[in-house]
Amino acid sequence: MYPRLEINIEKLKTNLQIISNLLKKRNISLSMVTKAYCANPDIINELVKDKNLIDYLADSRIENLKGMNHIDIPKILLRLPMKSEVEDVIKYADISFNSEYETIEMLNEEAKKVNKVHKIVIMVDLGDLREGYFVEKDLFDNVKKIQDLHNISIIGVATNLTCYGAILPSEENLSKLVSIAEKLERDFHIDIKIISGGNSSSLFLINENRLPPKINNLRIGEAILLGRETAYGKKIEGAFEDVFRLVCEVIENKEKPSVPLGERGLDAFGNQPIFEDKGIMERVILGIGRQDIKIGSFYPVDDKIEIIGASSDHTIIDVTHCEIKYKIGDLIEFKINYEGLLSLCTSKYVSKIII
Ligand SMILES: *Cc1c(COP(=O)(O)O)cnc(C)c1O
Repeated sequence: MYPRLEINIEKLKTNLQIISNLLKKRNISLSMVTKAYCANPDIINELVKDKNLIDYLADSRIENLKGMNHIDIPKILLRLPMKSEVEDVIKYADISFNSEYETIEMLNEEAKKVNKVHKIVIMVDLGDLREGYFVEKDLFDNVKKIQDLHNISIIGVATNLTCYGAILPSEENLSKLVSIAEKLERDFHIDIKIISGGNSSSLFLINENRLPPKINNLRIGEAILLGRETAYGKKIEGAFEDVFRLVCEVIENKEKPSVPLGERGLDAFGNQPIFEDKGIMERVILGIGRQDIKIGSFYPVDDKIEIIGASSDHTIIDVTHCEIKYKIGDLIEFKINYEGLLSLCTSKYVSKIII
């Protein structure tokens, strides 16, 4: 069945091993982030075979953690819990990231009901301006209140960077996280087990020996999957960048003009497209569309191919300059980026094949 996303599991395992070893050498635990591939059970079951490589399984969606419930590795909910999902959070997450007292209070109530102590990590915003306590006083005032909740245990602090605001992790901003952790230990007598210094964009600090030594956890998704750190997009030594391949099928191949004919309105997405006249082209249509993946997040392996447009379920490519003559039923391969991976994995119309 096409389109299909091919996952080279041996390459992926190698990437996991490389990243895990890189962290272990510095006594940094690995939270392996599974959201980009929707915690696909076929992938997960292969990756967790070597249990020593992964310290935590981390995902932003509770549904994904639920699917991994049978695996004996602690699970972290990365996205702040919604009030409406508190019951599942207590059931399926061993640890959740939090920044709102109101939610934590609800988690406490639910944990009490089922006689559990739920672990939380306090999220600190160091300037990227997505989630987390931004004002320190606010954080410490809340911690004081959280300490009165008997079914909640604060086990760490974390920050997320390079997501919304594209702010890079640095010695300076991560030292602030460490100093918050130290204050919680000193003034609040909390045993801080996790100081989580970010995602794949924090890896470069390890190589440059600039990660504050007290940072003892990173949450890594993309670098394992695509073999690159994400602060500067540098390749990780020994890691594979081609774990994933998108394969699409040709459903039409015709010579047509490069500029549409007739009076022009709006396209399928309400835009006014602009066309360059390149004369008659050999145009191929693939059975994949914007419901599955967006233009700009996949790239042909045959670099003579140019992607020229797409609607919900068709993608049109220019194959005029290709050496290969593409016929109906032929398969065409593409590399993908992180955004492409996310959307392909989320699309039920794309089959996922482990090779
Ligand atoms: C997605 C996510 C990560 C993983 O980020 P990568 O760039 O894929 O390594 C880490 N932390 C949080 C809070 C996330 O939402």
